Amino acid sequence: MSEFGLEDLPIRDDLRGRTPYGAPQLDVPVALNTNENPYPPSPRLAEALARAVADVAVGLNRYPDRDAVRLRSALADYLGHGLDVRGVWAANGSNEILQQVLQVFGGQGRTAMGFEPSYSMHPVITGVTGTRWVAERRGDDFSIDPAEARAAVLRHRPDVVFLTSPNNPTGTALPLETIEAVAEVAPGVVVVDEAYAEFRREGTPSALSLLPRHPRLIVSRTMSKAFAMAGARLGYLAAHPAVVDAIQLVRLPYHLSAVTQAVAVTALDFADELLGTVKQLREERDALVAWLRERGFSVADSDANFVLFGVFPDRGEVWRRMLDQGVLIREVGPSGWLRVSVGTPEENAAFRAALSNVTGH
Ligand code: PMP
Repeated sequence: MSEFGLEDLPIRDDLRGRTPYGAPQLDVPVALNTNENPYPPSPRLAEALARAVADVAVGLNRYPDRDAVRLRSALADYLGHGLDVRGVWAANGSNEILQQVLQVFGGQGRTAMGFEPSYSMHPVITGVTGTRWVAERRGDDFSIDPAEARAAVLRHRPDVVFLTSPNNPTGTALPLETIEAVAEVAPGVVVVDEAYAEFRREGTPSALSLLPRHPRLIVSRTMSKAFAMAGARLGYLAAHPAVVDAIQLVRLPYHLSAVTQAVAVTALDFADELLGTVKQLREERDALVAWLRERGFSVADSDANFVLFGVFPDRGEVWRRMLDQGVLIREVGPSGWLRVSVGTPEENAAFRAALSNVTGH
């Protein structure tokens, strides 16, 4: 047997010692760890998806539409805000969108900045594209103070700023005022990661409305969460058409398969049905927040489909004992806190029962 391993390969020095990113994929009765939508496609949608795939199957000897025009038009229609195909771009999950953005606007000698705790793939993608990462802190309530954010941008002059709203793992949404404060002074691009946008509470606006005033603002979205299509891998951005033109410099030709495009277009045809689950998930989320607070836990306000709660002296122990009871949650975020995704009413009941057993609350 050869002892040859990763460390023997001539990988880039800056990748040495890194571990691949990813939540554990365990076979458990109740998986509430990756912020998926727990509702699978209806039989009617599953049938429509199968038909759409069958339609493209006979043409799979040909490369797909490299510009994904039909899909991008459908996404623009879904977003509204006067967007059209020129201001929308799609890729394999919003992670690939963010990677493309970093490939264009980051790289050697450049800097990306974020406000932590936030989505830990932001520094990872920053790092693998050779970009330097600068982390600023969110406040104790996980908000971002507009004046402090503006000062931080002026201090670091980053090429890319990440603002996650609603934020993962805290659930915190940002007021437009904060996004504008940053966009007004940022010398590079500002990426508002809105992966959880559809779960926002009433009255919390999307950064899409700021696009006409800020041509270097990029709003990234995904079909993985509210659209219940995590397995299809479809993320997208909305921005000034010049940004979409810039992405063309780094995107691989035919990056989005004909199958993915057909599946995503079909899912968008069923937007009403798919987004119908969002209302229920928001209600379940609010109920979960209230239940946790009644039991004396600290709970971050959430505009997403997950809830960050704590504070535990040994969160790893709580996480393990929840898992022993078949409930997988996520050990992520500031020390002492845990994150649970909102599931079906039955899954949420299982979570509550397990947490009560583990903590005695
Ligand atoms: N942004 C945020 C804030 C996320 O939480 C996630 C998924 N966990 C993503 C982007 C990436 O999602 P996807 O690649 O499935 O679109």
